Amino acid sequence: MITVVTISQRLFKSILEGAREAYPNEIILLLRGKQKKGRIEITDLIIPPLATKGMRFASFPAHMLPMDFSLIGSVHSHPSGALRPSTQDLNHAFGKVIMIVGYPFLNIENVVVYNHAGGKIPILVK
Ligand SMILES: [Zn+2]
Repeated sequence: MITVVTISQRLFKSILEGAREAYPNEIILLLRGKQKKGRIEITDLIIPPLATKGMRFASFPAHMLPMDFSLIGSVHSHPSGALRPSTQDLNHAFGKVIMIVGYPFLNIENVVVYNHAGGKIPILVK
């Protein structure tokens, strides 16, 4: 059970900037992090293999992923601004957390984190 996800101000800003630059396309990045009990700390952003610009649904072949257990989830953008995971997001979720950033990608108001069951997890930027 994950109770909180923490991320540094610096990584948080790069996600929002990346989403703004790619708009109206989606971006997807993998999240590397550490888990201590119910707390996940995001430590790095990783560009997934074969991620291409302009795909309608930002995706990547899961079998191409490195066997890296520090990968704790992924983040992708919703150019529509929707802050709910789609059925596809939940079915194809990779790792433990799904972060979604919605248009206009400006601040914490435009970011949500979910677990696989579709339950919201609080995010702490510090
Ligand atoms: Zn989505």
